[in-house]
Amino acid sequence: MQALILEHNEGQTHAEVKKISTSALPEGNVIVDINYTGLNYKDALAITGKGKIIRQFPMVPGIDFAGRVHSSEDNRFHIGQPVLLTGWGVGENHWGGLAQQARVNADWLVPIPEQLDPRKAMIIGTAGFTAMLCVMALEEAGVTPQSGEVIVTGASGGVGSTAVALLHHLGYQVAAVSGRTSTHSYLQQLGAGRILDRDAFSDSRPLEKQTWAGAIDTVGGKVLATLLAQMNYGGCIAACGLAGGTSLPTTVMPFILRNVRLQGVDSVMAPAARRVAAWERLARELPETFYQQAATEITLEQTSEYAHKILNNEIHGRTVVKID
Ligand code: NDP
Repeated sequence: MQALILEHNEGQTHAEVKKISTSALPEGNVIVDINYTGLNYKDALAITGKGKIIRQFPMVPGIDFAGRVHSSEDNRFHIGQPVLLTGWGVGENHWGGLAQQARVNADWLVPIPEQLDPRKAMIIGTAGFTAMLCVMALEEAGVTPQSGEVIVTGASGGVGSTAVALLHHLGYQVAAVSGRTSTHSYLQQLGAGRILDRDAFSDSRPLEKQTWAGAIDTVGGKVLATLLAQMNYGGCIAACGLAGGTSLPTTVMPFILRNVRLQGVDSVMAPAARRVAAWERLARELPETFYQQAATEITLEQTSEYAHKILNNEIHGRTVVKID
């Protein structure tokens, strides 16, 4: 089988498509024939070596994939069944989805909802799944379309694009923050009511004019700090990303004077029942147009090139790898 193999020597990560034996796959009780894999921000960090994602080499990266069951020792899954996987450390410490096959633990797999197929499942991918978890976090905090405007940062990225499309479809007024004017018409098509320049979120006082009922933040750093200062009384931010940095230069003021909630969102270790619920909602609530608007399809050989493009902020929406 073909796989993207990462090796590490002399402080550098090297990525190359190689032919390997299926017997080299790690332990697991289900083998999946992979049709599509997502190329995520975390994959880009791993493939380029710009983030310390992988600690054991050689490694097959790819934190999500979708395909059909090739063989199964677990009676929840049968041969030919469409399945998807996101997270659980796959593509980080267990060989991942940038290969023709993967051998994994059955507990990590989710049956693909019947409205979707492997390609659509990966256009959504880890990013879209995380966007859904963020929307669910806002709903659980009591943020409704009647509460006021909801803002999404890193809006033209994978998480951001899906969050904009989902929130718009659910009836929210959506503001999108983007660092690129080239993405404005794309964001409007997804349902953004207004688009704000990322530079306007680079500095803030501890408290500013109350503007947002909810927020989905994929960026962190000063952008997240500015959002905190601008939240309505009782508002909630679902924070899932670090595209702008890992720091959070804020004060306690939004929390103690405005009852603001900062809700962290992790997709990697999300419990199985929440995964199934989120995927069923994604299948139901993403409009058909999303799949045409938000996807770039590439080959396994192009993954390294596109990993650099992702980190250089040259891509919008989702990048999916078609595995032949
Ligand atoms: P993408 O690369 O698709 O999108 C990131 C977006 O962030 C870009 O499109 C860009 O949007 C914006 N951005 C890029 N660089 C910067 C910068 N230096 N400062 C501010 N904004 C920037 O990534 P994903 O959408 O897949 O992931 C977004 C973040 O969420 C990542 O940090 C990722 O690691 C994290 N993540 C976390 C998960 C979890 O489980 N918690 C799961 C999935 C992702 P624009 O050009 O519109 O400004």
